[in-house]
Amino acid sequence: MENRRLEEVAAALRRRGFAVECLAGRSAAAARIMVLAENARSVGFGGSVTVKELGVEGSLAAAGKVIWRHGDPKWLPDEKMDVMRRELTCDMFLTSANALTADGRLVNIDGNGNRVAASIFGPRRVVFVVGRNKIVDGGLDDAVERIKRVACPLNCRRLDRKTPCAATGTCSDCSSPDRICRVTVVMDRRPSKTDVHVLLVDEDLGY
Ligand code: SF4
Repeated sequence: MENRRLEEVAAALRRRGFAVECLAGRSAAAARIMVLAENARSVGFGGSVTVKELGVEGSLAAAGKVIWRHGDPKWLPDEKMDVMRRELTCDMFLTSANALTADGRLVNIDGNGNRVAASIFGPRRVVFVVGRNKIVDGGLDDAVERIKRVACPLNCRRLDRKTPCAATGTCSDCSSPDRICRVTVVMDRRPSKTDVHVLLVDEDLGY
């Protein structure tokens, strides 16, 4: 692994108590997830585009894991709520970060809060898969700026939210009922009771 920037951010994350690995690309990340899932009976998916791009769901299901992914279109609305609650107590939860600061803080902005809640407490193990494109040069202000400029507009379009940023690509700190920016979580240190792994991938993944 020769990406110096990734190695520096990995060192910063380790100082904050996270287990970190730098990986060359998505196939290495997918292989690592299969190893980390070995003792998990159930695996939850937070809805991350990054994780979807790894294509691990089928492999995990084939390995006998119970999959909880609320984004699966097969669920009816009531069932979907149930699945979101099951994701909160799965053995291993897969997610990403909307941004990662140069000094090793994971930053996420969420609408329902289920994704960030599961990343903090509940699942026995949480795996953040973070592509190199999520790393910002500065601190928290830069992280939030990235999220509002890149992640939120694209997520609003993906989720068909009727927000200003979906239409214009620019955040106007809206009051739309469809607003997805409702909870901001900054992980300063590994949460005490959760086994958190961060897979830093030397490839652009998700947004
Ligand atoms: S506050 Fe509204 S306009 Fe701004 S990024 Fe969030 S959803 Fe989009």
